[in-house]
Parts: sequence; C-alpha cells; structure tokens
Amino acid sequence: MPGKIQVLPESISKAIAAGEVVERPASVIKELMENSIDAGSTEVIVELKMGGLDFIRVQDNGEGIEPEDLPLALQRYATSKLKRLEDLYNITTLGFRGEALPSIASVSKMTIKTRVKDSIHGTKVLCEGGVIKNISTVGCPVGTEIEVRHLFYNVPVKRKFLKSIPAELRQSLNHFLRLSLSHPNLSFRLIHEGRILQDHLETDSLRVRIESVLGREAWEQMRPFEFEDGEIKVSGYASLPTFSKRTSDGIYLYVNQRGIRDRVLYKAILDAYRHLLPGGRYPVVVLFIFLPPSGVDVNVHPTKAEVKFKDQERVYQVVIRALRSTLEPLPQYEEERGFTKPLELKEEPHPSLFGSPSVSYSSEELWKEREGFHFLDERTGSERLSKHRELPRIVGQVQGTYILCEDEQGIIFIDQHAAHERILFERFKKEVTRRSFSVNHFLIPITLEFSAEESILLMTHLEMLQGMGFEVDPIGKEVFALRAIPSFFEAKGAKELIRHILEELAFSREREAVKEGVETILVAMACHCAIRGNFHLRREEMEELVKSLYPFDLSMTCPHGRPIFFLFEGGELAKQFKRSSP
Ligand code: ADP
Ligand code: MG
Repeated sequence: MPGKIQVLPESISKAIAAGEVVERPASVIKELMENSIDAGSTEVIVELKMGGLDFIRVQDNGEGIEPEDLPLALQRYATSKLKRLEDLYNITTLGFRGEALPSIASVSKMTIKTRVKDSIHGTKVLCEGGVIKNISTVGCPVGTEIEVRHLFYNVPVKRKFLKSIPAELRQSLNHFLRLSLSHPNLSFRLIHEGRILQDHLETDSLRVRIESVLGREAWEQMRPFEFEDGEIKVSGYASLPTFSKRTSDGIYLYVNQRGIRDRVLYKAILDAYRHLLPGGRYPVVVLFIFLPPSGVDVNVHPTKAEVKFKDQERVYQVVIRALRSTLEPLPQYEEERGFTKPLELKEEPHPSLFGSPSVSYSSEELWKEREGFHFLDERTGSERLSKHRELPRIVGQVQGTYILCEDEQGIIFIDQHAAHERILFERFKKEVTRRSFSVNHFLIPITLEFSAEESILLMTHLEMLQGMGFEVDPIGKEVFALRAIPSFFEAKGAKELIRHILEELAFSREREAVKEGVETILVAMACHCAIRGNFHLRREEMEELVKSLYPFDLSMTCPHGRPIFFLFEGGELAKQFKRSSP
C-alpha cells in the first residue's frame, strides 16, 4: 500500500508559489507548528535555546509519519495534503507545498522521531544538511518530535543576517502567539532555555485564549463581534478605543484559521476605527474570516503570509460591518479628553509647566543651563534661521494646539506638544545623566500585568530602567511589581508610563532604530508627560513654554523628529497683500 506522502507531479509543483521558506528560527517554528496542527495534534510543545539559533524542538501528539513515508517527507514537493491540481483551490490545511521539511533540513542538523498510532515503535531519522544519515527504530510516544540544531551551520552568510537572541526570540514568540490565538482548542507550550514562557491550555473559548495570549488587560478591553454575509463569516474580538497601541502589531488576521497579512483587511479595520482613535494609534483586533476555500487563493506567497480574495470589496464590507456592529455605539474620539492624560508630572493643582516640588525648574534656570541643551539637529544650516531673534511676543493659541508668536521678522507657530516634549526630554536626560533625581518608593508596590511580548521587552530593559529610577521586578509570569519611580512622576500615572515606555521601545525596535534604549525611554517619558494638542493653555503657561525654548533654533525638532516651529516670514504677508514693504 503506498504511503500517505507523495511527491507532487511537476504539473502541480510548477503551479506552486515556491520561494525561500526559512529565513530565521521563527520561520522554522512556524512551519513545524503548522505541521503539528495539520497532523491533528491536541498538544504542541516548542522548546528553544538561544532564541532558536542553536536549538529548536517541536513536539506533538498528532498522527505521526509512517516509516516508509519518512524519507519522502524530507523530499521537496512531497506532501500528504495535496494530490491533484484541483486540490490547490480547495486547501483546508495550513501546509500544502511539501517544502518546509526539506528546506529546513537542508540548512540544519535535523532529527525526526515519529510514531503512528498502530505501530508499537517509532522511527528516528538523522539528517544533516539535507542528507539522511541514519534511520532507526526507537521507542517514543505517538506523534512527532522534530529537532533542528545549528540552523544555517552550512550557510554562514545567512547566519550573519540573524539578529540578537532577544530579537530572534521575539519573532519566534510572535509566530507562536499567532498560531496559539487561532487554535484555542489545542494546548501550546513554549519553553526557552528550560523556562516555560508560555503555556496555553486547550479551551473551547476564544476569549479565554485571548486572555492567555494577549494578557488580562487586553482581554478586559476587548469586545466580541460577529457578522455573516452569505458564505463569508467574520468573527473575533476588537479593543475598545480606550485600549490602543502605537503599532499595528496588535492586529491578528486569519483567513480560514491561517494567519495572514492583508492590506484590504487592515484598511477595513482602520476605517472602522476612524474617529474612534487619535492619529497614530492602532486597535487590538483578533479577526477571523471564514469563507469557502474556493473564495480565497492561499497559493500566492512563498511563506503563505498573504492570500488573495476573489471578491475583495465584499470582504472589506463584511469586515467593516462586523466591527461597526461592536464599535458604533461608542462615543467618538475627541482629542481633548486625551488617552493618556497630559501633565502627569508631579505638579501643583495649577501646574506650572516646568516646575515640580522635587526639582524646581524655573525658566530662568533653564535659560542658564541652556548650554546643556543638546538638540537632535545641531547642523549649522540652522544658523541661517536667525539664532539671535528677540524673545517673540505671544499672540495667542490657535486650534488649541499651536502657540502663535510674532517678532520683528515674522510670525512663528509653535507646536505646543512638540515643544514641551523637547523641553522635558532635555530635562529628563540631564537628570538621568547626572543622576540628580530622587526616587519615590511606594508603600504598596503597583502590580503590572503585561502580554508575553511586552514582558520580554520589559525583561530585556529591566536593568536600564532600574538605572533610571524605576524599580521594577518580575513576580510571576508576565506580572511585575513596580516598587519605585523617579520622583518627578506621580504614582497615579505610573502604570501608563511604563506601558508608554514599552510601546516606544517596541516601536523603535520595529523601525530598527539605532537609538539607544535609554534615549528611547527618555523619549517615552517626555512624550507621556508633555501637554497634548487640543489642550487649552493659559497665557502664563504659553509664556513659560516659549521662554524655555528660547533662544530659538528654528530647526529644532521634538525627540521623535517632528518640527517644533513653523516660520511665516514677515515679507510673505506683505506679498500676499500686495504691499510693497512689510
Ligand atoms: P506540507 O506541510 O506542505 O505538506 P512539509 O514539508 O511541511 O510539507 O511536510 C511534509 C509532509 O510531512 C507533510 O505533508 C506531512 O505528511 C508530514 N509531516 C510533517 N510534519 C508532520 C507532523 N508533525 N506530524 C505528522 N506528519 C508530518
Ligand atoms: Mg508544512
């Protein structure tokens, strides 16, 4: 009797969108986990060493591989999931190309141990660089265990492109989480260097899985949605506008349980949240679309990360309607209500923008210390922009966001948030460099709960944060105790501040920014405490802000790199009114 796995005839293999499957440990983990899921497992355990760079093991209790099929499983285009060309348009498994195992085997040292239900023993295969070295019988449980060691040991060029251990671990974790989210009815465990990082017990509730994967806060802040239009069914959970992120990482998309990226779906989600979230914020959404396999082509991307819908417009409409059914009753976003309250610095009831009881910062002092100011853009080109302007006269606030000033040479708009952010950034930087701040200890530590990804990020920056006056340490899986913060912050907003810092760290990492961690944390602190746009300022506050920025270097930016000033030269105005001279 022929085995289950067959080498695809060329007519089919040619129709397959082939490509590079293995780029990094994370791709191995994704492919092996997908195989375990396709094999009908109920339990999948992933174990890693050095973020997967050195060692990856995926163990499942699925159907196993028949001994005679094993050599085939390691051959290109050999699969048990596809037999005829027509099947390519009706795929219900995660894999179908028969590419993953051979690709991984060719760049690593791989061991497969597997046993099918009806067999009294299992089979073990040793493979090096794609060449089978040994096949033997072994005792092992029903299911499959695949070990991948020394990834890219024979392709040094590829090894060079790999990132640090935490960065690789983060990517692997991301795939692990994506697959765990879409298969709540399976148990998943992730172990790194002998430590259990993730443990999701099987459940029939997506909500329970969301809590386990995304953390308690996400779970509390997410609401279910469901919508059906003929054969297209959409369901999932979406965050309330009070819970948003700086990046779109929190958007998990699945088509027939396959995790994908898709422009149309992203757009539908963001459109559904329009007017609910301020600019630059993204919701957290776990979205499943189910439609007949013939309505979607999954064979368009080498790592199957993208799909093509037959009827994109309809999919867009269904998703928007599904989300709106949950989001519509919510109030629209008005910027002044703010998501993170501005001015959470320790200040008087009528806060002076720069004063605080512990560190008093009169504008005069700032003036004196201005040599200590380091602007991001210190290029000399800025000299042209008249460094020696008079202190401008404040005309007023416009659109609740800009301070309008004038001097001899023209009209200056100042973005109040950007300006304040820059001032605070410089102040925090100085405090931290000089270690001139004191630390406030809480009587009762504040408990912080984060998602797995945030926890890893926090763990990798723990020491750095401690050096900056944040005493925070892990007290459980993804639970931390915040025991102290620098005294220029209030305890009240401490939780949000830490979250803001993590977001900024994740964001700068995503952008592969070369900025140092400390600087990123300072940026987050400044951004968190700076006054927002659409926030009314009293005259004295405007004056203080403008004075602290003085003398202006008009090329100055906020720590994120946005401009602070916009200059409208006096002559321009005269020109507009066809006056001969200003
Ligand atoms: P594909 O998943 O596209 O079929 P792979 O190269 O990933 O291709 O796997 C080749 C074949 O090996 C699969 O079709 C399946 O029959 C078998 N296989 C791989 N991993 C497992 C597993 N964990 N349990 C059972 N069978 C497996
Ligand atoms: Mg596969």
